Amino acid sequence: MINKRTSSDMFSKSERSRIMRAVKSTKTKPEELFAAAIEPLDLEFTRNPVEIPGKPDFYFASIGVAVFIHGCFWHGHDKCRRGIVRPKANAEFWNAKIEKNKRRDRRVVRLLRKRGIAVYTVWECRFRGKTPPKRVINRLLNRSGRSSCEADPDRGDSS
Ligand SMILES: [Zn+2]
Repeated sequence: MINKRTSSDMFSKSERSRIMRAVKSTKTKPEELFAAAIEPLDLEFTRNPVEIPGKPDFYFASIGVAVFIHGCFWHGHDKCRRGIVRPKANAEFWNAKIEKNKRRDRRVVRLLRKRGIAVYTVWECRFRGKTPPKRVINRLLNRSGRSSCEADPDRGDSS
């Protein structure tokens, strides 16, 4: 008799939930949510420019701002559970990896500041559902000389 295995039997329960999480996270990737949130703001930006240290997720050349969207686990966010709690298995490996990422992040911030570029770090845990933190959006608007309230003087017909 043929052993009929459905595709879902091929993975253990934990493997399957890991895969499901990965699938879900590509759909709600914080970088994509951020891109969607800033799209209506009409700001010019490039994504991951290779010529800028650290290849920021978003780089706003005209206002001199680099935005990094950081996953709390990988970048060791010290203000949330996901960033603080490390896996118990292979603890040394994970700690070394995350500390290395943190060192690199700090180095990148220093390099960018030296070039006169402001660095905004947006932590994944600060997203509210699909919305990135308002604060960073407001800072971008302020920096571009536009007010962060609803009224948009640039769109008026005054001349
Ligand atoms: Zn966090």
